[in-house]
Amino acid sequence: MKIKKFTCIGCGAPKVNEYRSPYIICDYCGTFTDVDYTLGLESWNESPEKTARYVDKKADLMARINTALNKNDRQLYRKLQHEYWDYYYTTYPAYLPPTVETKEIYDAYINVCADSTTEYGFDPKWQEYGIKQNELYYSLEYYYALDGGSKVNGDDFFKLAEFFIDMTKEGIKVFYSDPKYALMNDVVPEKVHLKMKLSMFVQIWLPYLTDDEQQRLLDMTGFNMQYVEIERPAGRKGECEHCKEEIYIPEGSYKVYCESCHKTTKVQQSFKCMSCGAENKVPDYPAKPIDCGFCGVENRLIQRLFG
Ligand SMILES: [Zn+2]
Ligand SMILES: [Zn+2]
Ligand SMILES: [Zn+2]
Repeated sequence: MKIKKFTCIGCGAPKVNEYRSPYIICDYCGTFTDVDYTLGLESWNESPEKTARYVDKKADLMARINTALNKNDRQLYRKLQHEYWDYYYTTYPAYLPPTVETKEIYDAYINVCADSTTEYGFDPKWQEYGIKQNELYYSLEYYYALDGGSKVNGDDFFKLAEFFIDMTKEGIKVFYSDPKYALMNDVVPEKVHLKMKLSMFVQIWLPYLTDDEQQRLLDMTGFNMQYVEIERPAGRKGECEHCKEEIYIPEGSYKVYCESCHKTTKVQQSFKCMSCGAENKVPDYPAKPIDCGFCGVENRLIQRLFG
């Protein structure tokens, strides 16, 4: 089978199971590891009416958010941000990080979204960035291409793209170094979070670019992945513990993601310490090194296969 080439950022394993959602989960350790923007694009284009409704509602909310900012009403601003993020993820559930598996994590995640956007919203440095981004955005010029579609002037667009990418990288870096948001490291690893944000930008702009410009944008954002032919590794069929759909468990796997219900199933409960041979419980994040509970030696569960 042909599959895009993804390597797990947690354990180094390749992606081996077929996937149907924009987010790529490792078939060996369950780490949220990458984003396939083409599938994100499918969710976005799936229903033009839904997307149009979303764009309207977003414009309305953003206008109210701006009013709150101008009135310096931080509390209202945060409340509206919370409403926006909740609306966004209920409209496009495919964009919700698959690691947000319970109502509890969902609430915490939406709160982090609302808190962090509020913090940036009231920070003069980020306000300046916002103004600069708007300037670049409003100076864009469009033209009609031969195929009838509307395209954007490439030179100006790439000024905006470069600015947006740098700003987003900086924002993510600041965000992940803040202990307040420590929860996020397990839910969405930093590198993947950056790709989530860039993916939204890419999917909105691709239709306005020529073929060469599309390629350039994909290169800049790290979405230019190759397809590779892979053999499905040895393994067995199993059952998702949440929805009972069939899942494929490659040999050596600890956690497998279900494409039907977007949850992971622990497929191995224990491992033998490589030093003393004692049975230990598999940790929640099998990609992380774990000390044997008996002899204290550090074990790496999956690196042994792919390191
Ligand atoms: Zn992995
Ligand atoms: Zn399932
Ligand atoms: Zn041991």
